[in-house]
Amino acid sequence: MSTTLPHAPLPADRAEAAEAFEDYKPPLSPGHAVVEANRCLYCEDAPCTIACPTHIDIPTFIRKIATGNIRGSAKTIFSSNILGMSCARVCPVEVLCVGDCVYNHLDQPPIQIGKLQRYATDVAFAEGWRFFEAGAPTGRSVGLVGAGPASLACAHELRRLGHACTIYEKRDVVGGLNSTGVAPYKMRADRSLEEVEWVLGIGGIEVKTGVELGRDLSFEALEAQHDAVFLGFGLGPDSWLEAAGSELSGVEGAVEFIEGMKLGTPDVSEVRRAVVIGGGNTALDAVRELVRMGIASVTMVYRGTEERMSGYAHEWKAGKLEDVKALWQRQPVGFEGEGRVTGVRCVKLGQDRQPIAGSEEVVPADLVLLAIGQGKLGELVSGLDGVTVERGRVVVGPDGATGRPGVFAGGDCANGGKEVVNAVAEGKAAAQAIHRSLGGN
Ligand SMILES: Cc1cc2nc3c(=O)[nH]c(=O)nc-3n(C[C@H](O)[C@H](O)[C@H](O)COP(=O)(O)OP(=O)(O)OC[C@H]3O[C@@H](n4cnc5c(N)ncnc54)[C@H](O)[C@@H]3O)c2cc1C
Ligand code: SF4
Repeated sequence: MSTTLPHAPLPADRAEAAEAFEDYKPPLSPGHAVVEANRCLYCEDAPCTIACPTHIDIPTFIRKIATGNIRGSAKTIFSSNILGMSCARVCPVEVLCVGDCVYNHLDQPPIQIGKLQRYATDVAFAEGWRFFEAGAPTGRSVGLVGAGPASLACAHELRRLGHACTIYEKRDVVGGLNSTGVAPYKMRADRSLEEVEWVLGIGGIEVKTGVELGRDLSFEALEAQHDAVFLGFGLGPDSWLEAAGSELSGVEGAVEFIEGMKLGTPDVSEVRRAVVIGGGNTALDAVRELVRMGIASVTMVYRGTEERMSGYAHEWKAGKLEDVKALWQRQPVGFEGEGRVTGVRCVKLGQDRQPIAGSEEVVPADLVLLAIGQGKLGELVSGLDGVTVERGRVVVGPDGATGRPGVFAGGDCANGGKEVVNAVAEGKAAAQAIHRSLGGN
């Protein structure tokens, strides 16, 4: 159990592996950043700002880059989104800020908002700039469960308002999925840990790693130790496909595999053909990562159609360019192999999503990743008076309040699984609501 500032527990030999994933959207040079910033039309109604869940004042931060005020630009970003450095790398900007840039309607390339945000925040990190101080102590304390983006954003805001914070994290690694799940070619674990330390730099946020709610700490004890509680425990482990042969070695959960890739150096030297089952964003991340690891044949097996896949179209388009193959309307029914997997048995599905008789085929594979969803952890707090859990999700009001006084939630455990920027927005909004509930205004 650790009560000190968490440091990167990353194996020394992972640096080489991490290099393989650098850097799918190369940074802008200072000159390019100024040119791009000067393209911004500074729209009065700024649809990009509305589309950003943390409502960063995008025209203002971009104007500051155009005028050479990088420090001011970074401050504008971090004032709305304290995880602005990682969001600049991991946000699906095509469906958020960039997707709503007015240039899209003028047949011109939209402003590269994510890249400009990265430019300003990278300079801020390189220069060691800090912008925020803790507020005057209120004597109140808040316990936060999970050290992912939701809790980090919540705790930082609470510190600005003067409340003491303790984060309880079950792993040794902090940062949540930014450190363990988001594709390493977008966000490397060492960068994520650097960001956590930067956020904790405000002081007064104690992080207790290796403490799991429900195992090492009861909810009652948590509630008794603090004046308010924030639940930011995210989602659970990979959902499993119960089919013959799923116990074979080489059949693994995709999120677990990605964690191994981000925190270590998985040995894929014997893998020639990888199959990823699923058609969501985790599946897309996994196939693109496997290609980068040098695996010759990478195939996505999905029960739906290309048109209706749940993963982002822009990510799939990029995957296709990287030579990822896909088998659509296929249902895996079992795994072949002795000891280690050698193939996935699939049946073809018709338009009515029913198996087509006689369509069974074996797709060769020596690694199979299951990307068919993650479990939910709401049962950790189900049964508590005033807390409603629906299909594993903690039900909250718009400001993160559960029906139990003093208990708030945000991020994936409450929204069912969205993006880092949503977790940040919800964590920050909950901090404001917690502050009000503690008598602040
Ligand atoms: C494979 C994958 C790729 C993704 N890619 C992207 C992307 O490219 N861009 C993007 O914006 N979003 C992406 N996401 C989504 C994004 O990572 C999440 O929306 C975000 O991390 C949610 O933040 P959170 O703080 O709610 O939860 P998490 O980041 O999951 O953090 C929750 C923390 O709580 C801890 N915890 C859990 N249970 C307990 C307990 N009982 N006691 C104590 N601690 C506990 C966990 O260990 C974890 O550290 C991806 C998700 C996955 C799975
Ligand atoms: S936080 Fe994400 S959505 Fe918001 S402006 Fe930045 S890149 Fe766009």
